[in-house]
Amino acid sequence: MASITLDHLNKWFGPSVHAVQDVNIHIEDGEFFGLLGPSGSGKTSVLRMLVGLERPTEGQILFDGVPVQDKTPQERNVAMVFEQNALYPHMTARQNISYPLRVRKASRESIAHKVAEVAALLNIGALLDRRASQMSGGQQQRVAIARALVRDPNLLCLDEPIAHLDTLLRARLRGELKRLQRALGTTSVIVTHDPIEAMTMTDRLAVMRDGVLQQVGSADEIHNRPVNAFVAQFFGLHSMNVLTVESCVDQGSHIAGRLGGEPARLPQTVERFFGGSRRTASIGARPSGVIALRANEPIPPVDGFTAAGHVYVTEQLGDAQLVTVQIGDQSIQCLTPDLYPFEIDEPVRIFIPDDILFLFDND
Ligand code: ADP
Ligand code: MG
Repeated sequence: MASITLDHLNKWFGPSVHAVQDVNIHIEDGEFFGLLGPSGSGKTSVLRMLVGLERPTEGQILFDGVPVQDKTPQERNVAMVFEQNALYPHMTARQNISYPLRVRKASRESIAHKVAEVAALLNIGALLDRRASQMSGGQQQRVAIARALVRDPNLLCLDEPIAHLDTLLRARLRGELKRLQRALGTTSVIVTHDPIEAMTMTDRLAVMRDGVLQQVGSADEIHNRPVNAFVAQFFGLHSMNVLTVESCVDQGSHIAGRLGGEPARLPQTVERFFGGSRRTASIGARPSGVIALRANEPIPPVDGFTAAGHVYVTEQLGDAQLVTVQIGDQSIQCLTPDLYPFEIDEPVRIFIPDDILFLFDND
């Protein structure tokens, strides 16, 4: 096991693709760390440099403080699991798992012992004599993980390891991977484009966009204190609403607002922001914090943001309802436990309490 440092890491592919741009991350020994971002944000490039399949153009990678750029994946003793595992189809699970140990000429007893140990951890004891070609996708992926773990790597790297599995299996493997990582304490880095996976499995994670690190922190920190509108919208069970609000001509000491061209009532924080002579602001609110008020419902008597629009669409989620409200050219989602359906085109007002509202710099 090792602590990992990425120090001013850069990767160029040719003269025009700057895939990884000056990334600095420190991963603690034993930590389960996530690299999260949309497709093309540079996650796999970081991981390939970590394991030694790709050389950094600039910058350093250190394992326990020691630079490893010149070391092969074997010398680094890292293990990698990809989305599509590369098991040998004609070999049994046991033969696949023991392969890295047989290559190292480990003793027959130590191989048997180690295979039994990882098989128990991954709940695949009953599959050991089955050929890879006779197993389901989820079973194959467990075997691939077992094969990665069997040689006690310093670092386990997982690149979208469960992305191709069906929803139920993915949810189960999420939990199992987390338990497994806790039990072994192997420093692990998982790449995913799925915020739920990153959020549920890892101790800390990094959000990337276009090769640039946006924020590093625990799921809680990133959820509750996103550093910018991109992170706010990308991270979370439901994407955060980010709305562009304009200030209108001053009406005495009162500053009026507009959202999507429609009049809006501003809370004090936004008024203060506009008071500094700003013209537009990006405000954010999670769908669970936005209240959709039907025509006969009063505005709550607390400071908040209000604007009127109409229901664009409503989605029944079983134990909640996701209502998309159109206000001029902007749309806003509201997640409500109220199951009585809103009608398409029904006039509604939205209300966002001031204390759950985010304000992003909009320069
Ligand atoms: P992610 O894993 O987040 O989807 P990648 O690290 O695979 O992102 O890719 C980041 C960027 O680098 C993308 O623009 C991709 O097209 C580019 N890229 C990745 N690998 C190569 C390569 N071998 N040659 C050229 N461009 C590449
Ligand atoms: Mg990738």
